[in-house]
Amino acid sequence: MGFDDMDVDTIWMDGEFVDWDDAQIHVLTHGLHYGSGIFEGARCYDTENGPAIFRWEEHLDRLFQSAQPYEMEIDHSREELTEATLELIRRQDLSSCYIRPVAFYGYNSLGVSPDDCPTRTAIAAWPWGTYLGEEALEKGIDVMVSSWRKHASSQVPTNAKTTGLYANSLLAGEEARRNGYAEALVLNKEGNVAEGPGENIFLVRDGEIFTPGLSESILDGITRNTVITLAEDLGYTVHDNVSISRGELNTADELFFTGSAAEVTPIRKIDNVVIGDGSRGPVTEDIQSRFFDVVERTTDEYDEWFQYV
Ligand code: PMP
Repeated sequence: MGFDDMDVDTIWMDGEFVDWDDAQIHVLTHGLHYGSGIFEGARCYDTENGPAIFRWEEHLDRLFQSAQPYEMEIDHSREELTEATLELIRRQDLSSCYIRPVAFYGYNSLGVSPDDCPTRTAIAAWPWGTYLGEEALEKGIDVMVSSWRKHASSQVPTNAKTTGLYANSLLAGEEARRNGYAEALVLNKEGNVAEGPGENIFLVRDGEIFTPGLSESILDGITRNTVITLAEDLGYTVHDNVSISRGELNTADELFFTGSAAEVTPIRKIDNVVIGDGSRGPVTEDIQSRFFDVVERTTDEYDEWFQYV
C-alpha cells in the first residue's frame, strides 16, 4: 500500500507542521546525492491506555548518536522532536503507526563536504502493519544468505543509522526476493553472521540464546536490546557478544529476526535448509508472545518503555 492510499495529511518539517504534499526538498539536496542523512524507525502501538510509542527515548538517543560521526547538528531539542511526534500522531488521529524521523544535509552546494549545507529535519508517521506479513509472525520466513557482505565498521560507522548504508540493505533484500525468499541475511566482512537488511538476528541452541555482538558490524537494535532484556527476565541465558559462523545457522534449533518494523519474526529456512522443525520454535514463541504482551500493554511491566500519546 502506497502513501496515496493512506489517511495521512501532515508532516513535521524543520519546526513546522506542513501538509503532507508540501513536505518537499530540492533535487540538489546533499543527502539525496551522498546519502548524508540519518534516520529512525519507531512504532506506536494501540494499547488499552491509548496509543503509546515504544522506547521513544532510545530512538532519540540513537538519532543523536547517528548524527555525531557526520558532525551533523540537529537544530531541534529532544523535547521539541517528542512534542512534534506526539502532535503528529494526535493530529492524524493514528491509533497505531510507524514513526520516521529523518535528518539530512540539505541544499546549498554539492561538494562532498557538507559544511555549508543546512541540516534539515522531518518526522512522518503513518499506519504500517506487520513488515514481513502477518503470516510471517506465526509461520516464519525463508531467508537467503546474501552474496553481498555488510560494510565493515572500519569503513563506516555501522552503529549509526545512516541513509546511505541502506544501499547495502536494498541490494541484499532484493537479491533475496528475486530468488524467492522473504528476506536476506547479510554476513560481515569476516564472513560471520551480521544481521538482516533491517533486522538483528538471534539463534537458539540447547535452550540458550545467542546474538552477534556489536563488534560484528551490526546496528545496535532497540528491539535486540528489548529481546535480550525480556529473555533474561524470563530466565533464559543470553549470549549477546559472540561471533556466529555461517555454519552455525544450519545447526541452530531456532532462529529469529528482530526489528522495530519486523518485531519478532521466526526464520524457518536459511538457503532452503530447514531450521529446527521448520516452524516457529518454542523459545521464539515464548519471547515473541512476551514481546507482544509488552507492546500491547496487556502486562503493566516495563511501563517505563512507553511514551503515551
Ligand atoms: N539492523 C538494521 C540494519 C536495521 O535497519 C534495523 C532497523 N532499524 C535493525 C537492525 C533493528 O533495529 P531496531 O530494533 O532498533 O529497529
